[in-house]
Amino acid sequence: MEKKIFIYDSLRRKKVPFEPLQSPFVGMYVCGPTVYGEPHLGHARMGITFDLVFRYLKHLGYKVRYVRNITDVGHLENDADDGEDKIGKKARLDQLEPMEVVQHYTKSYHHAMMRLNLLDPSIEPLASGHIIEQQEFIEKIIRAGLAYEVNGSVYFDVKKYNENYQYGILSGRNVEDLQSSSRELEGQQEKKNSYDFALWKKATPEHLMKWPSPWGQGFPGWHLECSTMSTKYLGDRFDIHGGGLDLLFPHHECEIAQSTAVHGESSVRYWMHNNMVTLNGQKMGRSLGNAVTLEEFFTGTHHLLEQAYHPMTIRFFMFQAHYRGPLDFTNAALMAAEKALERLFRGMETLEKIRPSSKSDYNIKSFESKCYQALNDDFDTPVLISHLFNELKHIYTLAEGKASIISQDLDKLQNLYKNFVEEILGLKKEHSGNRSELTNDLIETILQIRQEVKGKKDFATSDRIRKALTKLGIETKDLKEGFDWEIK
Ligand code: ZN
Repeated sequence: MEKKIFIYDSLRRKKVPFEPLQSPFVGMYVCGPTVYGEPHLGHARMGITFDLVFRYLKHLGYKVRYVRNITDVGHLENDADDGEDKIGKKARLDQLEPMEVVQHYTKSYHHAMMRLNLLDPSIEPLASGHIIEQQEFIEKIIRAGLAYEVNGSVYFDVKKYNENYQYGILSGRNVEDLQSSSRELEGQQEKKNSYDFALWKKATPEHLMKWPSPWGQGFPGWHLECSTMSTKYLGDRFDIHGGGLDLLFPHHECEIAQSTAVHGESSVRYWMHNNMVTLNGQKMGRSLGNAVTLEEFFTGTHHLLEQAYHPMTIRFFMFQAHYRGPLDFTNAALMAAEKALERLFRGMETLEKIRPSSKSDYNIKSFESKCYQALNDDFDTPVLISHLFNELKHIYTLAEGKASIISQDLDKLQNLYKNFVEEILGLKKEHSGNRSELTNDLIETILQIRQEVKGKKDFATSDRIRKALTKLGIETKDLKEGFDWEIK
């Protein structure tokens, strides 16, 4: 089996061979959620993208330590939010303790990710549990001469850093552009330059989430927690850092600067970014009135949704696009994905019913290598899925007895489907109470009864069932072993 994987590295801007620092061990860090709102499609796409990477690397035999953090200290999300405590704001609005807000949305996030069948990361560190480590990290940057303290806040000195390194290396931006595009924000006056970013912010008296520090009461900058926690658990240098494309700047750019300031080089070997999702061609956001939560997708309770969508439909739909490409959610596309996924599972059921022959005219090697090649090429799930669907034709030919396969190859084929569909893509057949799934199960039950009566040579009943189904638009087909059906 060809094990060589190529990963698109956002820093080098090309596909490069994946060579872990200490194979078979792989360290992977992914920026997790900020927990002050219900999880949405953006969380799902990021979670599912890196769940696939995690699953596939494990399948290939790598020992992966997957770290995905929880951003639970409120604070700054981007430059425009400078200093706003999102969790504190929510807590005040709902009259809750900030940690009640954190607990509530962390649970929502975990629940949604579990329904989407994500594997748990190996470590899920909380930013609030690493305040001391973050302060130590700041002290190291200060000692390197690349940060300065003003009025109880500490800022990263981008200009000084740029004397030896390159700020903007990941996003392709340069400091002059940033200078002209920076807006006047609170706290800007005390910075040496408008593009300097906060490592520690002094807390105002009404700020809820704050901690004591050598610089007074305050809270850490957002970018800092990821530099701190990734290197704490994965070492000064580690393999993969992932996140959504929206995190590339400033978040990941700043992470590179922080780590380089301390270690003299970036901690990360491969930067991976998943693209964004849109809904009916539009960016999602609360102000646009189309911020549909995952729970609303699962229950169909948002006015933009025509029906409920099972978590597995959403998971499968995500894989129909490459993770680096944009993905537009529409009712029509999701319904098509739902049907396609049913077809895939039905094909797999048919595959389980095939009986082996003593001779074979089936080329298992070619199918196997195509599947691996697809994922080895920067986790190209749409290509993998097209192979899985194309091969269904052969499976039906085998099921109809028009081609034959030896026992050993049949086992391998069955395992390939199980491995790629269930273990790697993480898709599982589930009963959701969804009408279309209920219909499927009813048809399967009726056809099983038909098989039984046929076996007892009760051809009259068997015919009656077939005719009744045909009348309802359900075409049945007898296979060598079992049956197949289709709604016309
Ligand atoms: Zn991060």
